[in-house]
Amino acid sequence: MAVTREAARATAADLPSVDRLLSLAPLVALAATAGREPVLAAARAHLAALRREALAGRLAPARLTDLSLATAIADAVAAAGTRRLRAVFNLTGIVLHTNLGRAPLPEAALEALLEAGRDAVSLEFDLGSGRRGERDAPVAALLAELCGAAAATVVNNNAAALVLVLSALAARREVLVSRGELIEIGGSFRLPDLMRAAGARLVEVGTTNRTHLEDYAAALGPRTALLLKVHPSNYVIRGFTASVSTPALAALARERGVPLAVDLGSGALAALGALGLPSEPVVRDTVAAGADLVTFSGDKLLGGPQAGLVVGRADLVARLARHPLKRALRAGKLTLAALEAVLGLYRDPDSIGRRLPALRLLSRPLVEIEAAARRLVPAVTAALGPDWSVSDAPMSGEIGSGAQPEQALPSHGLEIRRADGRRGAGVGALARRLRALPRPVIGRLANDALWLDLRCLEPDDEGRFVAALAALGP
Ligand SMILES: *Cc1c(COP(=O)(O)O)cnc(C)c1O
Repeated sequence: MAVTREAARATAADLPSVDRLLSLAPLVALAATAGREPVLAAARAHLAALRREALAGRLAPARLTDLSLATAIADAVAAAGTRRLRAVFNLTGIVLHTNLGRAPLPEAALEALLEAGRDAVSLEFDLGSGRRGERDAPVAALLAELCGAAAATVVNNNAAALVLVLSALAARREVLVSRGELIEIGGSFRLPDLMRAAGARLVEVGTTNRTHLEDYAAALGPRTALLLKVHPSNYVIRGFTASVSTPALAALARERGVPLAVDLGSGALAALGALGLPSEPVVRDTVAAGADLVTFSGDKLLGGPQAGLVVGRADLVARLARHPLKRALRAGKLTLAALEAVLGLYRDPDSIGRRLPALRLLSRPLVEIEAAARRLVPAVTAALGPDWSVSDAPMSGEIGSGAQPEQALPSHGLEIRRADGRRGAGVGALARRLRALPRPVIGRLANDALWLDLRCLEPDDEGRFVAALAALGP
């Protein structure tokens, strides 16, 4: 009986030398552009892998042709050169997804980013006087104006804004916080830990479900530096509950001569009700209600770059600006450039729902998402092959970043199951293949299916999405 050609196996003795690999014409050409070192490293790694296969008796001679060797090594060089931080298709249904970078930026911000990255910019330079200027000044003025506040400042993120407020105003003194507001945000960000890091002493007020104005009044003493109210972003306390409103707390703070800071978390700059979204506290309203300082994130509902924004009383903001931590937590020029562009869009509140991607995605009409799902079923079915059944289905998404945790965003998308009806088999592997694409597709696994929520796939991206799926490997 003849041994089939497929069954023949190469041995370690058949392997070429590194020098011979590097002399293959395609790799000589590649080394000229990518450099000799990456090609050499990839060649060595490939040889080592082939040797292991040969020793295990699994190396097919076809893998040792010049073409196969050169292709494998060139692919490895290309893969090593791809950035690890890559654009993905966010089909999780969570719009402001912290793990996927939160808010997508508008064109105006991207242009500003590019310019600030490429060119020298007037970062700490006053173009009027020709002298050194304040880094925050251009953004701070606009931010204060939009929030109806006297002053504003910018740091790296909202956690940094809180650390700065606590360090500058309450180090070695007491901060009163309601027991119902001692939050953990995720990513090991816990308010009590943050307080300790800032050197402030936390004084818990009231109980988990009920806190009254008298609780604050009773705890207020000579060592009290600050009242802190925290918006419970990512949870809801329901049932027999009571909390103290910002105006009531502000009146008490004023009467006792102690500032009130409010951490809004998401902090909307515009009223979202007009966009059909669940309403979140608006920064301007919180300032008007008497908060002395308000902190919030730049990349949550505001729809800008990662940043921590503080607005409020001029004397307090000046104390933050003078604190040494401000220097350590300051925002970079790319952030400030993008933020100024995003804030500029808020000058025209009527168009913000269209021009700001975060708000546009959050307020996308359901009928539009349903139509996209129906449009994409045939192309995705074709790309995945006969093993998979693809149908359009209603889904439930979220704003993300802790905003309105109980308010589902009704959505629509693609439900992908095994065509043979076998439960669980291979759905995880399919999700892995989608994540391995040059532009990875990130969905959600549940109930033996892969769910691709299409809220965040805008019509302009559909073509790219279908093209990306065409690159699906086995
Ligand atoms: C998200 C959030 C923070 C943290 O903001 P980052 O910008 O992620 O640092 C702090 N407080 C509240 C209430 C939040 O929702």
